[in-house]
Amino acid sequence: MKAVQYRAVGAAPEVVTVPDPEPGPGQVLLKVTAAGVCHSDIAVMSWPADQIPFPLPLTLGHEGVGTVAALGDGVEGLSEGDSVAVYGPWGCGICVNCAEGKENYCLRARELGIMPPGLGAPGAMAEYMIVDDPRHLVPIGGLDPVKTVSLTDAGLTPYHAIKRSLAKLVPGSTTVVIGTGGLGHVAIQLLRAMTATRVIALDVTEEKLGLARAVGAHEAVLSDEKAADRVLELTGGLGAHVVLDFVGAPPTVRTAGAAARVDGDVTIVGIGGGALPVGFGTLPYGTNVSAPYWGSRKELAEVLDLAHAGAVDVHVETYSIDEAPRAYERLHDGRINGRAVILP
Ligand code: NAD
Ligand code: ZN
Repeated sequence: MKAVQYRAVGAAPEVVTVPDPEPGPGQVLLKVTAAGVCHSDIAVMSWPADQIPFPLPLTLGHEGVGTVAALGDGVEGLSEGDSVAVYGPWGCGICVNCAEGKENYCLRARELGIMPPGLGAPGAMAEYMIVDDPRHLVPIGGLDPVKTVSLTDAGLTPYHAIKRSLAKLVPGSTTVVIGTGGLGHVAIQLLRAMTATRVIALDVTEEKLGLARAVGAHEAVLSDEKAADRVLELTGGLGAHVVLDFVGAPPTVRTAGAAARVDGDVTIVGIGGGALPVGFGTLPYGTNVSAPYWGSRKELAEVLDLAHAGAVDVHVETYSIDEAPRAYERLHDGRINGRAVILP
C-alpha cells in the first residue's frame, strides 16, 4: 500500500510503498478514508535526532477516519464497513486517568512505550492503518469523513481546552483565540456553540482573519506587538477572561499574558517554542497558565455529537496521497486556510 512517511531527520515527507498491515489479536484494520495534516507533524519533523522519541521511518497522520476492513481475533462490537474516527492519544487503558477515558493523560504511556498513531505508531496517512484497540474508535454514522476527520485533533484539542475554562465563559465574557488555522478556526466555532462568550481572533494575515470572521469571531485583530493593547481597548482596559494560544511562539505567549485579565486563564495549546514566565508580578494576579494536551475519549464523542448537531464545519482543502508532501509544504508556508485533508 501507499503511505506518507517521515523517513530521515530533517527530510521532507515521502510517499512510499510498504507492506499491507494485518491486524493482530485485539486490533482493528481500517481502510483509511481521510487523514488530516496537522502543524504538530511539522514541529516533529523539525526536531533534532536526539529529541525524536520514536524510530524512523514513521507513517504520518494522527487524524484518521476509515471504514473497518478486518477485525483481529477477539474483537467484538464492530462490523466490517463501519465508518469510524480514530481517537489518537492512546494510553494504557488501565491507569486511573485512562479509566476515566483521559488517555491523553495516561500515567503509564511513556513507561510502556505507547505512542499515538502518526506520532510513533504507524499513522493514518496510508491506505490502511492498524488501530490497537476498538476502544480507540468512535463510530461516525453518516457524517462526512472528509469534514469529520480533523475533529479528532483540530476539534478535540480546542474542545478540551475550552471545557477546562467553561466556568469563566459566561455571557459578557471575552475569549481571545490566537492563531485561527486548523485548530483555531474550529475553536471559534466551538466557543460559539458551547458558550455565550465574545470571541476576539488574532492572526497574521487578512485571509486567516477573514475565515475567523466567517466562522463566528466577533472581532478579528492583526497579531502584532500591539495586539494585546487592542484586546485591552476592546475589553474596557480589563483584558480577556480566557486566552487560547494556538501558536505558542514567543511573541504569541507574550501577547497571551498581556491580554489576560486578573484571575483569567491563559491556555497555551501551540507548540511553537514559547514559554510564559510565571511568578508573582509577572502576570495579572491569579492568572492560570496551562498547556493542555489533546483530549479524552469522552470529549471526542462529545465533539462528534456537536458535529451531528451541525455545530461545527471544518474548512478543508483535499489532497490525494501523492500530493501529501505538497500539503505539508503549503501548511509550513502558512498557505492552508482551514485544514488540509489527505484522501488515501
Ligand atoms: P495551523 O498552521 O493550521 O494554524 C496556525 C495558525 O497560526 C495559522 O493560521 C497562522 O497564520 C497563525 N499564526 C502564525 N503565527 C502567528 C502569530 N504570531 N500570531 C497569530 N497567529 C499566528 O496549525 P494547527 O495545525 O492549527 O496547529 C496549531 C498549533 O497547535 C501548532 O503549534 C500545533 O503543533 C499545536 N497542537 C497542539 C496540540 C496539543 O495537544 N497541545 C494538538 C494539536 C496541535
Ligand atoms: Zn495534531
